Amino acid sequence: MKCGGGFVYRDRVDELSPRTLAIVAGRPHGPGEPLNTPIVPASTYGAGTDRAYARQNGTPTWEAFEEAIGALEGGHATAFASGIATLAAIVDVLPLGAKVAVPTFSYAGSRGLLAHEHERGRLVVSEIPPGNTNGWLDAAREADLVWLESPTNPTLDLIDIEAVTGAPARTARVVVDNTFATPLGRQPLKLGADVVVHSATKLIGGHSDLLLGVTIAADEELAKELRDSRSRNGATPGALEAWLALRGLRTLPVRLAEQASTAAKLADLLARHPAVTKVRYPGEGIMIGLELGSAEAADKVCASLALIRHATSLGGVESLVERRATMEGDRHVPPGLIRFSVGLEDPDDLWRDLERALSADA
Ligand SMILES: *Cc1c(COP(=O)(O)O)cnc(C)c1O
Repeated sequence: MKCGGGFVYRDRVDELSPRTLAIVAGRPHGPGEPLNTPIVPASTYGAGTDRAYARQNGTPTWEAFEEAIGALEGGHATAFASGIATLAAIVDVLPLGAKVAVPTFSYAGSRGLLAHEHERGRLVVSEIPPGNTNGWLDAAREADLVWLESPTNPTLDLIDIEAVTGAPARTARVVVDNTFATPLGRQPLKLGADVVVHSATKLIGGHSDLLLGVTIAADEELAKELRDSRSRNGATPGALEAWLALRGLRTLPVRLAEQASTAAKLADLLARHPAVTKVRYPGEGIMIGLELGSAEAADKVCASLALIRHATSLGGVESLVERRATMEGDRHVPPGLIRFSVGLEDPDDLWRDLERALSADA
C-alpha cells in the first residue's frame, strides 16, 4: 500500500510554530525515502548535472540542515565549518577598508578576528558599548557593517536590535549573532536584520560534540555571495557535523525550554546567596552571569564545583562554568564574573552543587 507524499511543510511555514518547524523542516518527504537525510560523505558527483563538487555545490546533508535552520529563521541558510567561519565570510564579502561596529562586550573570538583585520588595515573597526543606543544609531548611518550580539557573550548585555535595523538613514548591513537567543527566542530577520549567524557548536548542536556555523541571509543575492565565499575559502562543514547539528536542532525547543526554566530558578536562588555580588540574567535563555567579590573567590567556586564542569563553551546538555576574564580577549570583563551555561540536569542537584561550592568560598 502506498502512503501519501508526506507533509509538505513549505506550504504552511507561516502557520506552523517554531517548535513544529524544528521537527518537520529539512526532511525528505517522498514515499520510500528515509525520514532522515543520511550522512553523505561525498566530495564529488557523477558528471552531467549542476552538482559537480561538494566544496562548490554542497551535499544533501548540509542542505538538509540549511533548509531546517533557514525555515526557523526565515531566510536563506549556508552552513560553515564553525561559527567564526561565518564572520570570516561576512568580512570576506566587504570592500577593503570597510567600517565595522561591534559591541565592546561581545564574543572574544569575533572581536579578535575584527581586531586582526583592523591591525592589518583591511577594516576600520570601532567598539560600541551594548547599551549605547545612540552610538549604534550613528554606526547604522556611518558604518558599512554593524555586528550585533544580544545578549552579549559573556556579560549578557542587551542591544535594541529593532532600533538599529530601523535607524533613520541606515546604510550599514546589520548582522545579528543569534547564538545565545536561538531562533526560538528571537528571529532577527523579522526585526529587519540582513543576516543572522549562529555558532551551531553551542545550543543548536546542544551536546558539545561538534563545530559548525551557519549564516541565514534575508536576501538571496547576499546568500549567494556568502556561499561563494565559503567555496572560495573552503570553509565547508563536515558531513557528520551537519547531520549532528540537524539532529540537535530537532530537540532544541524542548532542551531550551527545560534548561531556561532551570536557569530562571537558579538565577533567583543565586541572587539571594550572600557570597554572590551580582547575577546577570536577562530573563530568558540558558546563560547566567554570576559575579563574586574577587577573581580568587570566583576561581575557588569554579574549582569547587563537582557536578557542574569547569570548561569553556556553552549550550550543551551539561552545565559548564568558566571565569571569562582568564580568557585572552576577555580581560576587560569583571574579574569575578563566572559565565554559567545551565544544562539539562535536575535543578535540585545543580543547586546543591552550587551551594556547596559557594560556601567553600566563605
Ligand atoms: C562560540 C561562539 C562563537 C564562535 O563559534 P565557533 O563555533 O566556536 O567558531 C560566535 N559567537 C558566539 C556568541 C559564541 O558563543
